[in-house]
Amino acid sequence: MALVEITDYGLFCAQAGVYIDPWKPVERALITHAHSDHARYGHKSYLVHHHSIPLLQKRLGNQYYMGIEYGELVNINGVQFSFHPAGHVLGSAQIRLAYKGEIWCISGDYKLQEDGVSMPFEPVKCNTFVTESTFGLPVFNWANPTKVFNEINHWWHQQASQKRTAIIFAYSLGKAQRILKGINHDIGKVWVHNAVHELNEAHVQVGIKLKPWEVLTIDAKPQPGDLIIAPTSAETEGWLKRFAPCATASASGWMAIRGTRRRSSADRGFVLSDHADWIGLNTAIKSTQCENVWVTHGYAATFSKWLRENGLNAIDIQTPFTDQPVMDLPTEN
Ligand SMILES: [Zn+2]
Ligand SMILES: [Zn+2]
Repeated sequence: MALVEITDYGLFCAQAGVYIDPWKPVERALITHAHSDHARYGHKSYLVHHHSIPLLQKRLGNQYYMGIEYGELVNINGVQFSFHPAGHVLGSAQIRLAYKGEIWCISGDYKLQEDGVSMPFEPVKCNTFVTESTFGLPVFNWANPTKVFNEINHWWHQQASQKRTAIIFAYSLGKAQRILKGINHDIGKVWVHNAVHELNEAHVQVGIKLKPWEVLTIDAKPQPGDLIIAPTSAETEGWLKRFAPCATASASGWMAIRGTRRRSSADRGFVLSDHADWIGLNTAIKSTQCENVWVTHGYAATFSKWLRENGLNAIDIQTPFTDQPVMDLPTEN
Protein backbone atom coordinates (compact mmCIF):
# COMPACT_ATOMS: atom_id res chain seq x y z
CA MET A 1 0.00 0.00 0.00
CA ALA A 2 1.18 3.46 -0.78
CA LEU A 3 2.35 5.59 2.12
CA VAL A 4 -0.38 8.13 1.30
CA GLU A 5 -3.75 7.34 -0.19
CA ILE A 6 -6.75 9.40 -1.09
CA THR A 7 -9.95 8.63 0.80
CA ASP A 8 -13.42 10.21 1.15
CA TYR A 9 -12.03 12.16 4.11
CA GLY A 10 -8.87 13.37 2.43
CA LEU A 11 -5.22 12.42 2.03
CA PHE A 12 -4.53 9.63 4.50
CA CYS A 13 -1.39 7.96 5.83
CA ALA A 14 -2.65 4.59 7.08
CA GLN A 15 0.65 3.62 8.71
CA ALA A 16 0.48 6.68 10.99
CA GLY A 17 -3.31 6.95 11.13
CA VAL A 18 -3.32 10.64 10.22
CA TYR A 19 -4.94 12.77 7.55
CA ILE A 20 -3.37 15.75 5.79
CA ASP A 21 -5.74 18.71 5.19
CA PRO A 22 -8.82 16.44 5.49
CA TRP A 23 -12.10 17.83 4.20
CA LYS A 24 -14.29 15.79 6.58
CA PRO A 25 -13.93 15.63 10.40
CA VAL A 26 -11.23 13.17 11.54
CA GLU A 27 -9.40 12.25 14.76
CA ARG A 28 -5.92 13.43 13.80
CA ALA A 29 -5.33 16.11 11.18
CA LEU A 30 -2.03 17.52 9.98
CA ILE A 31 -2.73 20.93 8.45
CA THR A 32 -0.55 22.68 5.85
CA HIS A 33 -1.98 26.17 6.43
CA ALA A 34 -4.88 28.16 7.86
CA HIS A 35 -6.88 28.83 4.65
CA SER A 36 -10.39 27.45 4.94
CA ASP A 37 -10.15 24.88 2.14
CA HIS A 38 -7.24 23.23 4.01
CA ALA A 39 -8.03 23.83 7.69
CA ARG A 40 -11.61 22.78 8.30
CA TYR A 41 -13.74 22.73 11.40
CA GLY A 42 -14.45 19.59 13.42
CA HIS A 43 -11.22 17.59 13.74
CA LYS A 44 -10.33 16.15 17.16
CA SER A 45 -6.73 17.40 16.92
CA TYR A 46 -4.74 19.70 14.63
CA LEU A 47 -0.98 19.46 14.15
CA VAL A 48 0.18 22.70 12.50
CA HIS A 49 3.17 25.01 12.23
CA HIS A 50 2.99 27.01 15.47
CA HIS A 51 2.47 30.31 13.60
CA SER A 52 -0.81 28.92 12.26
CA ILE A 53 -2.26 28.52 15.76
CA PRO A 54 -3.31 32.17 16.35
CA LEU A 55 -4.74 32.29 12.81
CA LEU A 56 -6.77 29.13 13.43
CA GLN A 57 -7.91 30.43 16.79
CA LYS A 58 -9.45 33.44 15.00
CA ARG A 59 -11.07 31.23 12.37
CA LEU A 60 -12.08 28.04 14.21
CA GLY A 61 -11.98 29.11 17.85
CA ASN A 62 -10.38 27.03 20.56
CA GLN A 63 -9.61 23.52 19.32
CA TYR A 64 -6.95 20.98 20.24
CA TYR A 65 -3.98 22.52 18.40
CA MET A 66 -0.43 21.24 18.54
CA GLY A 67 2.30 23.46 17.17
CA ILE A 68 5.47 22.30 15.44
CA GLU A 69 8.56 24.20 14.27
CA TYR A 70 9.87 23.99 10.70
CA GLY A 71 12.27 21.06 10.40
CA GLU A 72 11.26 19.48 13.72
CA LEU A 73 10.86 15.70 13.46
CA VAL A 74 7.79 13.91 14.75
CA ASN A 75 7.58 10.14 14.70
CA ILE A 76 4.09 8.66 14.44
CA ASN A 77 4.06 4.86 14.41
CA GLY A 78 7.34 4.69 12.54
CA VAL A 79 6.54 7.42 10.02
CA GLN A 80 8.77 10.46 10.33
CA PHE A 81 6.91 13.73 9.75
CA SER A 82 8.33 17.22 9.36
CA PHE A 83 6.99 20.61 8.25
CA HIS A 84 8.90 22.80 5.75
CA PRO A 85 8.25 26.40 4.64
CA ALA A 86 5.83 26.76 1.71
CA GLY A 87 6.06 30.55 1.31
CA HIS A 88 2.28 30.81 0.83
CA VAL A 89 0.93 32.56 3.97
CA LEU A 90 2.05 32.85 7.60
CA GLY A 91 2.70 29.38 9.03
CA SER A 92 2.21 27.62 5.70
CA ALA A 93 4.06 24.33 5.45
CA GLN A 94 4.81 21.48 3.13
CA ILE A 95 4.44 18.25 5.06
CA ARG A 96 7.17 15.66 4.55
CA LEU A 97 6.59 11.98 5.36
CA ALA A 98 9.40 9.41 5.40
CA TYR A 99 8.91 5.68 5.95
CA LYS A 100 11.26 2.81 5.09
CA GLY A 101 13.21 4.90 2.59
CA GLU A 102 10.15 6.29 0.82
CA ILE A 103 9.60 10.04 0.96
CA TRP A 104 6.46 12.04 0.23
CA CYS A 105 5.97 15.79 0.34
CA ILE A 106 2.48 17.28 0.50
CA SER A 107 2.91 20.92 -0.35
CA GLY A 108 -0.53 22.38 0.35
CA ASP A 109 -0.37 25.75 -1.39
CA TYR A 110 2.94 27.44 -2.12
CA LYS A 111 4.71 30.19 -3.97
CA LEU A 112 8.34 30.91 -4.81
CA GLN A 113 8.15 34.71 -4.69
CA GLU A 114 9.13 36.05 -1.28
CA ASP A 115 6.40 38.09 0.41
CA GLY A 116 8.15 39.45 3.50
CA VAL A 117 5.59 37.78 5.79
CA SER A 118 5.85 34.00 5.36
CA MET A 119 9.04 31.92 5.49
CA PRO A 120 10.34 31.47 1.92
CA PHE A 121 9.59 28.21 0.09
CA GLU A 122 12.14 25.49 0.75
CA PRO A 123 12.47 22.62 -1.77
CA VAL A 124 12.02 19.19 -0.18
CA LYS A 125 13.60 16.21 -1.94
CA CYS A 126 11.08 13.42 -2.25
CA ASN A 127 9.87 10.49 -4.34
CA THR A 128 6.30 11.74 -4.57
CA PHE A 129 5.34 15.40 -4.55
CA VAL A 130 1.73 16.47 -4.05
CA THR A 131 1.38 19.85 -5.73
CA GLU A 132 -1.33 22.40 -6.28
CA SER A 133 -1.94 23.74 -9.80
CA THR A 134 -4.16 26.74 -9.08
CA PHE A 135 -2.31 28.69 -11.78
CA GLY A 136 -0.98 25.72 -13.74
CA LEU A 137 -1.13 27.24 -17.21
CA PRO A 138 1.65 29.08 -19.11
CA VAL A 139 -0.55 32.19 -19.28
CA PHE A 140 0.10 32.77 -15.56
CA ASN A 141 3.42 34.52 -15.33
CA TRP A 142 3.80 36.88 -12.35
CA ALA A 143 5.57 40.21 -12.53
CA ASN A 144 8.03 41.19 -9.82
CA PRO A 145 6.00 42.21 -6.73
CA THR A 146 7.90 45.53 -6.53
CA LYS A 147 6.45 46.43 -9.91
CA VAL A 148 2.95 45.48 -8.75
CA PHE A 149 3.29 47.59 -5.58
CA ASN A 150 4.46 50.53 -7.70
CA GLU A 151 1.28 50.16 -9.75
CA ILE A 152 -0.85 49.99 -6.62
CA ASN A 153 0.87 53.06 -5.13
CA HIS A 154 0.45 54.97 -8.38
CA TRP A 155 -3.26 54.10 -8.51
CA TRP A 156 -3.76 55.05 -4.85
CA HIS A 157 -1.93 58.33 -5.39
CA GLN A 158 -4.17 59.10 -8.35
CA GLN A 159 -7.31 58.52 -6.24
CA ALA A 160 -5.89 60.66 -3.46
CA SER A 161 -5.18 63.54 -5.81
CA GLN A 162 -8.78 63.34 -7.00
CA LYS A 163 -10.11 63.29 -3.43
CA ARG A 164 -11.41 59.73 -3.64
CA THR A 165 -11.11 56.93 -1.11
CA ALA A 166 -9.19 53.97 -2.54
CA ILE A 167 -10.57 50.53 -1.66
CA ILE A 168 -8.59 47.40 -2.42
CA PHE A 169 -10.17 43.97 -2.13
CA ALA A 170 -7.92 41.07 -1.16
CA TYR A 171 -8.05 37.81 0.80
CA SER A 172 -7.98 38.62 4.49
CA LEU A 173 -5.33 35.97 5.25
CA GLY A 174 -2.08 36.48 3.41
CA LYS A 175 -2.81 38.96 0.64
CA ALA A 176 -4.09 41.69 2.96
CA GLN A 177 -0.96 41.62 5.15
CA ARG A 178 1.26 41.55 2.09
CA ILE A 179 -0.46 44.66 0.72
CA LEU A 180 -0.25 46.41 4.08
CA LYS A 181 3.50 45.76 4.07
CA GLY A 182 4.10 46.57 0.42
CA ILE A 183 2.30 49.88 -0.05
CA ASN A 184 3.69 53.36 0.51
CA HIS A 185 2.16 54.68 3.74
CA ASP A 186 3.24 58.26 2.91
CA ILE A 187 0.31 58.53 0.48
CA GLY A 188 -2.36 58.40 3.17
CA LYS A 189 -3.87 56.57 6.09
CA VAL A 190 -4.58 52.83 5.77
CA TRP A 191 -7.78 51.29 7.14
CA VAL A 192 -8.59 47.61 7.27
CA HIS A 193 -11.84 45.67 7.54
CA ASN A 194 -12.30 43.94 10.90
CA ALA A 195 -11.67 40.47 9.40
CA VAL A 196 -8.28 41.73 8.20
CA HIS A 197 -7.61 43.46 11.54
CA GLU A 198 -8.11 40.20 13.46
CA LEU A 199 -5.69 38.32 11.23
CA ASN A 200 -3.19 41.21 11.34
CA GLU A 201 -3.23 40.88 15.12
CA ALA A 202 -2.54 37.15 14.83
CA HIS A 203 0.54 38.03 12.74
CA VAL A 204 1.79 40.60 15.25
CA GLN A 205 1.24 38.09 18.04
CA VAL A 206 3.89 35.78 16.55
CA GLY A 207 6.35 38.61 15.91
CA ILE A 208 5.62 39.55 12.29
CA LYS A 209 6.21 43.27 11.77
CA LEU A 210 3.43 44.91 9.78
CA LYS A 211 2.91 48.61 9.10
CA PRO A 212 0.35 50.72 11.00
CA TRP A 213 -3.35 50.36 10.25
CA GLU A 214 -6.65 51.77 11.50
CA VAL A 215 -9.63 49.51 12.13
CA LEU A 216 -12.67 50.18 9.99
CA THR A 217 -15.24 50.15 12.79
CA ILE A 218 -18.89 50.79 12.07
CA ASP A 219 -18.54 54.53 12.73
CA ALA A 220 -15.05 54.99 11.30
CA LYS A 221 -14.77 57.84 8.84
CA PRO A 222 -11.94 57.40 6.34
CA GLN A 223 -11.06 60.61 4.57
CA PRO A 224 -10.74 61.05 0.80
CA GLY A 225 -7.25 59.91 -0.10
CA ASP A 226 -7.17 57.13 2.49
CA LEU A 227 -6.87 53.47 1.52
CA ILE A 228 -9.10 50.63 2.74
CA ILE A 229 -8.09 46.95 2.60
CA ALA A 230 -11.11 44.62 2.77
CA PRO A 231 -12.07 41.09 1.78
CA THR A 232 -14.22 40.77 -1.34
CA SER A 233 -17.08 39.51 0.82
CA ALA A 234 -17.37 42.99 2.42
CA GLU A 235 -18.39 44.55 -0.85
CA THR A 236 -22.06 45.44 -1.01
CA GLU A 237 -23.61 48.55 -2.50
CA GLY A 238 -24.58 49.90 0.90
CA TRP A 239 -21.08 49.33 2.27
CA LEU A 240 -19.44 51.06 -0.67
CA LYS A 241 -21.77 54.10 -0.35
CA ARG A 242 -20.28 54.86 3.05
CA PHE A 243 -17.00 55.76 1.40
CA ALA A 244 -18.19 57.67 -1.68
CA PRO A 245 -16.56 59.08 -3.67
CA CYS A 246 -14.34 56.02 -3.94
CA ALA A 247 -12.48 53.85 -6.42
CA THR A 248 -12.15 50.07 -6.07
CA ALA A 249 -9.46 47.59 -7.02
CA SER A 250 -8.94 43.87 -6.65
CA ALA A 251 -5.60 42.14 -6.01
CA SER A 252 -5.49 38.52 -7.15
CA GLY A 253 -3.71 36.16 -9.50
CA TRP A 254 -7.03 35.78 -11.28
CA MET A 255 -6.67 39.38 -12.46
CA ALA A 256 -4.22 38.02 -15.04
CA ILE A 257 -7.22 36.83 -17.04
CA ARG A 258 -8.92 39.59 -18.98
CA GLY A 259 -12.33 37.89 -18.72
CA THR A 260 -12.09 37.80 -14.92
CA ARG A 261 -11.05 41.44 -14.83
CA ARG A 262 -14.07 42.34 -16.93
CA ARG A 263 -16.48 40.31 -14.78
CA SER A 264 -15.03 41.74 -11.57
CA SER A 265 -16.99 44.68 -10.18
CA ALA A 266 -13.77 46.47 -9.17
CA ASP A 267 -12.55 49.41 -11.25
CA ARG A 268 -9.02 48.09 -11.38
CA GLY A 269 -7.25 44.72 -11.12
CA PHE A 270 -3.74 44.09 -9.81
CA VAL A 271 -2.07 40.74 -10.50
CA LEU A 272 -0.74 39.69 -7.11
CA SER A 273 -0.89 36.05 -6.10
CA ASP A 274 0.08 33.90 -3.13
CA HIS A 275 0.37 30.88 -5.41
CA ALA A 276 3.16 29.81 -7.73
CA ASP A 277 2.82 30.80 -11.37
CA TRP A 278 3.56 28.46 -14.29
CA ILE A 279 7.32 28.82 -14.04
CA GLY A 280 7.16 28.64 -10.24
CA LEU A 281 5.23 25.35 -10.29
CA ASN A 282 7.64 23.81 -12.77
CA THR A 283 10.69 25.08 -10.87
CA ALA A 284 9.36 23.79 -7.56
CA ILE A 285 8.58 20.34 -8.94
CA LYS A 286 12.03 20.06 -10.53
CA SER A 287 13.70 21.12 -7.30
CA THR A 288 12.14 18.19 -5.40
CA GLN A 289 13.79 15.69 -7.81
CA CYS A 290 10.64 13.59 -7.49
CA GLU A 291 9.56 10.83 -9.86
CA ASN A 292 5.86 10.96 -9.03
CA VAL A 293 3.52 13.94 -8.82
CA TRP A 294 -0.03 14.14 -7.58
CA VAL A 295 -1.73 17.29 -8.84
CA THR A 296 -4.58 19.05 -7.02
CA HIS A 297 -6.40 22.43 -7.31
CA GLY A 298 -7.31 24.23 -10.46
CA TYR A 299 -5.94 23.05 -13.76
CA ALA A 300 -4.94 19.60 -12.45
CA ALA A 301 -5.84 17.62 -15.59
CA THR A 302 -3.99 19.92 -17.99
CA PHE A 303 -1.02 20.38 -15.70
CA SER A 304 -0.59 16.66 -14.94
CA LYS A 305 -0.70 15.92 -18.68
CA TRP A 306 2.09 18.46 -19.20
CA LEU A 307 4.16 16.80 -16.46
CA ARG A 308 3.65 13.35 -18.02
CA GLU A 309 4.80 14.71 -21.37
CA ASN A 310 7.93 15.85 -19.53
CA GLY A 311 8.77 12.43 -18.20
CA LEU A 312 7.14 12.48 -14.77
CA ASN A 313 4.72 9.95 -13.45
CA ALA A 314 1.91 12.45 -12.78
CA ILE A 315 -1.77 12.03 -11.99
CA ASP A 316 -4.49 14.49 -11.13
CA ILE A 317 -6.41 13.72 -7.97
CA GLN A 318 -9.87 14.89 -7.05
CA THR A 319 -9.94 17.11 -3.96
CA PRO A 320 -12.16 19.98 -2.86
CA PHE A 321 -9.13 22.29 -2.52
CA THR A 322 -9.63 25.53 -4.37
CA ASP A 323 -8.31 29.03 -4.36
CA GLN A 324 -11.70 30.03 -5.71
CA PRO A 325 -14.00 28.51 -8.34
CA VAL A 326 -11.83 27.57 -11.27
CA MET A 327 -12.31 29.95 -14.16
CA ASP A 328 -12.82 28.95 -17.76
CA LEU A 329 -9.62 28.53 -19.67
CA PRO A 330 -8.54 31.95 -20.89
CA THR A 331 -9.50 32.39 -24.51
CA GLU A 332 -7.92 35.79 -24.89
CA ASN A 333 -4.75 37.45 -23.71
ZN1 LIG B 1 -4.06 28.58 0.60
ZN1 LIG C 1 -5.61 25.80 -1.35
